[in-house]
Amino acid sequence: MIADYHVHSGWSDGQGTAAELLAAAAALGLPEIGIADHLVHPSLGYGMPPERLPAYAAAMRRAAAAARSAGLLVAVEVDYTPETWAELAAPLSQAGLDYVIGSVHFVDGAPFDVEAREVDERWPDADVLFTRYYDHVARLAASGAVDVIGHLDLPKKFGQRPSAAAGAAAEVALDAIAAACVLVEINTSGLRSPAAEAYPAATLLAGARARGIGITFGSDAHRPQEVGASFAHAEELARSVGYTTYVRPSDRAQVRLP
Ligand code: ZN
Ligand code: FE
Ligand code: FE
Repeated sequence: MIADYHVHSGWSDGQGTAAELLAAAAALGLPEIGIADHLVHPSLGYGMPPERLPAYAAAMRRAAAAARSAGLLVAVEVDYTPETWAELAAPLSQAGLDYVIGSVHFVDGAPFDVEAREVDERWPDADVLFTRYYDHVARLAASGAVDVIGHLDLPKKFGQRPSAAAGAAAEVALDAIAAACVLVEINTSGLRSPAAEAYPAATLLAGARARGIGITFGSDAHRPQEVGASFAHAEELARSVGYTTYVRPSDRAQVRLP
């Protein structure tokens, strides 16, 4: 079984404690999980503000020490916006985290992944949204403060797809990810959304593979029942573009796909 490196707990917007999430992982036979609760700027109004990071890390470290049948890595999913990044990234290196997932959920000051209506109102042209989004991803990767890029093509969540024109921006983002030696995750939450497809799409993942970018796997579980969700599908997707290993984000160890 493949480790799940993107799980949320009650420390942000997930349901379940570390112990409950670990029990779910153990029941599936996963070797380990990484809990990566949302670390967000207080102005964005959800998830953990930076002041809670030390208490979160300490509580997760205690849960990791108590973990028996599945291991626990301690991480965050940090939210990138150009305006808030310097302030959010500063405490990351001192927090004693095993790794950091960097994600873009906001473009032009608004979340594009909450409801489809907002996408239509603010970004009537999908290419505008995708191009802005990939520009943010490239800057996030180049910041050097994250180990993994979360759900690489998240703007497709409500079924919007970019045209070939936005492909250039995606290529720039992939180049930046490769240059910074950042990993990309196969995030199965897209299968539970209207997009009905994992993040990233196979063509993007093939682009990552061509650049030698390593992968992790994440369910983006917000409930214990979602830990490891659709991982057989994710493994098939990885294999379909040529991956035979994934990467443990804490020490960059290569792990063979089962
Ligand atoms: Zn969340
Ligand atoms: Fe996310
Ligand atoms: Fe997440």
